[in-house]
Amino acid sequence: METIKSVRSRVWNWTGPTVPPNRNFCTNASDVLREKGDAMASFRFHQWLTCEVETDKGTVGIGNAALAPSVVKKAIDDWYAGLVIGEDPFDCAYLWDKMYRMTHAWGRKGIGMVAISAIDIALWDLMGKIAGKPVFKLLGGRSKDRIPVYYSKLYAGPPADMQREAEQALAMGHTAFKMRFGFGPRDGMAGMRENLKRVEAVREVIGFENDLMLEAYMGWNLDYTRRMLPKLEKFEPRWLEEPVLADDIEGYAGLNRGPIPISGGEHEFSLLGCAQLLRAGAVSVLQYDTNRVGGITAANKINAVAEAFQVPVIPHAGQMHNYHLTMAGTNCPLAEYFPVHDVEVGNELFYYIFEGDPEAENGSLQLDDNIPGLGISITDRHIKHFEIIE
Ligand SMILES: [Mg+2]
Repeated sequence: METIKSVRSRVWNWTGPTVPPNRNFCTNASDVLREKGDAMASFRFHQWLTCEVETDKGTVGIGNAALAPSVVKKAIDDWYAGLVIGEDPFDCAYLWDKMYRMTHAWGRKGIGMVAISAIDIALWDLMGKIAGKPVFKLLGGRSKDRIPVYYSKLYAGPPADMQREAEQALAMGHTAFKMRFGFGPRDGMAGMRENLKRVEAVREVIGFENDLMLEAYMGWNLDYTRRMLPKLEKFEPRWLEEPVLADDIEGYAGLNRGPIPISGGEHEFSLLGCAQLLRAGAVSVLQYDTNRVGGITAANKINAVAEAFQVPVIPHAGQMHNYHLTMAGTNCPLAEYFPVHDVEVGNELFYYIFEGDPEAENGSLQLDDNIPGLGISITDRHIKHFEIIE
């Protein structure tokens, strides 16, 4: 038996070159604020957290998180690390409950759950490495030959630029595409027209035989969404993602009764949080993010519940922890895929920290049956562009 000897958390601050995104590349929750300063700051992030859990035999499991890394690091170092050190990584379900219940007074959602997620993902990587099996084989095994993915970028910009990007993605073999809205309630009818113009422009390129997903990243409100939905119907979106604030579960449920499926969940936490969404009928597609929702242990339980509700799970973000769950889940039809790209919004940063993430080919990607664990390692290929805080 191997026991956990240490938990090492590191914050990776990207200091290298970045591509400046368009000013209105996506609506977001802070759009309603009077003084917004940098309007896109709450969407953009150039930091990541790695969490390496090492056993007494020297095996290292790698977890990670992307939300508020410096605060999550403090939570791991001061609270959570001590709860798993000395324990058997194969007791991961017990360790999850231990971390969750012993910090319940202040943990539960947000930073606490992100810290649990990072450690839990590392535990699964560890278990896979010790067992000599890829993580998806520990989760039920291969449910599909390859994982179909959807191309997730198409930030709002000039329609011609979005069309060019869609053409390129189409030429790469993608068959599903997610685009972002740049305009919300403060932009009035004129903004609505701009939004619709862009949906039409992308549809024109990808046709109606491919999937189109629409993303508002909580930058709309109920009134605006109710007015937009009928106008969007003719474009046959596969879903409209996060139209309103993540906490407005009743709002989601109301919208989701309409003809356009509503998706969400990337800002929800834990089994009970996701169960609430499912019971309320708030989403037609559940999109938890494994490195926020409570790691692979929580995600695996949520997958079972969502399957019972017949709500497909398509986790937020690319990344290996999501891919392994998707490979093992019969109720996980598709994975989000951020194309490999120069550092721009931050979504793509994991390609610069880790090695081993698969690249999509012709609209799908593959996991290796013979690589134990998650199949990623931390690379020093871009290390000169990071300031690392131990
Ligand atoms: Mg999203």
